[in-house]
Amino acid sequence: MTTPELFTDPAAWQARCFAARDAGTRLALVPTMGFLHEGHLSLMREARRRADQGGRRGLALATIFVNPTQFGPGEDLARYPRDLAGDLAKCASAGIDAVLAPDDPGLMFPPGHQTWVTVEQASQGLCGDRRPGHFRGVATVVMKLFGLTRPHVALFGEKDFQQLAVLKAMARDLCTGVEVAGMPIVREADGLALSSRNAYLTPDERARALALSRSLFEARDAAAAGERDAAALSARARARLEAAGARVDYVELCHPETLAPVAQAAPGTVMLLAAFLGKTRLIDNLVLP
Ligand code: AMP
Repeated sequence: MTTPELFTDPAAWQARCFAARDAGTRLALVPTMGFLHEGHLSLMREARRRADQGGRRGLALATIFVNPTQFGPGEDLARYPRDLAGDLAKCASAGIDAVLAPDDPGLMFPPGHQTWVTVEQASQGLCGDRRPGHFRGVATVVMKLFGLTRPHVALFGEKDFQQLAVLKAMARDLCTGVEVAGMPIVREADGLALSSRNAYLTPDERARALALSRSLFEARDAAAAGERDAAALSARARARLEAAGARVDYVELCHPETLAPVAQAAPGTVMLLAAFLGKTRLIDNLVLP
């Protein structure tokens, strides 16, 4: 287990990545905001696997950058948890070769930056409506990371289901040549989806946060037992969340690709929800069998 090469300067990172690619090396990228957990590490192990193909060792790459442009006013940018030393050790354990961790947002968004990426359809509804400008910030920073890295493949979690849809559309529409691949949600043993934001939860909120995954599992069971009415399924989930003292932001059943709301659940329909436990906003989702 070797410590990954650490870059804080995007230009030096770009030179390293371009030289590797020009030499025929396969590059796999995992963009993150750090404070890494098993969900991130599952993406990194997959990056290792996908970089090493055809009997040749590739480059498994990760970025750690708390991107200010994807946070709205009043959101948790200032208190977002950080632990670069711990993160580097975790990257090493997952087989990452090099990490870009710009230590100043101005390195990624220098004065004069004026180009923004807006993915229209996939950014509408759900988190796109509740967090105006969020996906514009995400798409722009990921496009920059693609430009800095030129990876063959980039790994993202299905935990952020709408984000994955936005980034797949962006990668395709802007002819990036990057394969955007999704990976399954990693959960705690009791069902809670891993998230860096779980660190904000008090023990009481942590216990009540189980209502998110439980309401999804309950909907899965109800759908398996024949309940198809999306309004009925979401009403039940909403009631369970409210009973746990969570403030519901949204509960919706959507088409897995277009993310358009559906009236009838079908196999493959995705149920997505967002709820506040105290000040902490958590999201989760589940694809119905
Ligand atoms: P973040 O650091 O929150 O921006 O997340 C970086 C990447 O890790 C994104 O692609 C997320 O979807 C993914 N991710 C976050 N939590 C999980 C999880 N519990 N399981 C799988 N992937 C995750």
